[in-house]
Amino acid sequence: MIIRKIWLFLGGLIILIMLSSLVVRTTAVVAGHNHLLSHIPFELGDVPILNYHKIDSLNHSLSISPEEFKQQMAYLHDNGYTSIRPDQLMNYLNLGKPLPKKPVMITFDDGYLDNYTNAYPVLKKYGFIATIFLVTDLVGKDERFMNWEQVREMEKAGFIFGSHTVTHTPLTRLPREKIMEELTESRKEIERQLGQNPKYFAYPTGAYNLEIEELVKQAGYKAAFTIRYGQVGPGSEPYALERIPIFRQSQTFYSFLVRLKAAPILERFGIRN
Ligand SMILES: [Zn+2]
Repeated sequence: MIIRKIWLFLGGLIILIMLSSLVVRTTAVVAGHNHLLSHIPFELGDVPILNYHKIDSLNHSLSISPEEFKQQMAYLHDNGYTSIRPDQLMNYLNLGKPLPKKPVMITFDDGYLDNYTNAYPVLKKYGFIATIFLVTDLVGKDERFMNWEQVREMEKAGFIFGSHTVTHTPLTRLPREKIMEELTESRKEIERQLGQNPKYFAYPTGAYNLEIEELVKQAGYKAAFTIRYGQVGPGSEPYALERIPIFRQSQTFYSFLVRLKAAPILERFGIRN
């Protein structure tokens, strides 16, 4: 009898969740920005770190369109988010220094040219800054990627540049010495080009392990970003910081909002989109 009641309760709960998600979806389509998720009065995690790659209309698996990017940045701006620098994040994590209200960190991996041509003007418009992780062998050498002049221009405007290795080889596939080379040579090149050592690192393809974390630390980086889904808070590991991927499969504004607001809960249930 009790078991039957529990099943009924669970069934009801599931139907309720399905219905509410239907309502959210429908409202999202009808009302654009003004749907239910926008009105969740609290933030479920600490700091969402958004992870973008390409902002273009090429339908690439790593792309979102410039229109969608604009919509997402407009949402963050209109809802009082402040983009923070990784230094602010680390001061918060290590020293408990307070962050601005509604902090968000905006990151890009790989250093695609469209970060400069398509994302930069939108970010500037809304007063946001971003952190971009460069693959140093591609900067200025491959036309799909930014050149150092563009990087320097963005740096002057407050953008932060970190390392994403020299060649973008997943580090778990390399022997120890090669990993160290990827970590230190990219660091030196960024220093040569920008005049200061990059403090932050992002793992190519998100591949890392404890030994690699240790090498990143030894190479002099202060923290490293993964593609492990979630929000960052005092419980986060500085060399395995969580991020929220925003690319192709998350192309609707609805799923951007779900990811932004509900990452910790979805993560707990193993839901990744
Ligand atoms: Zn990458």
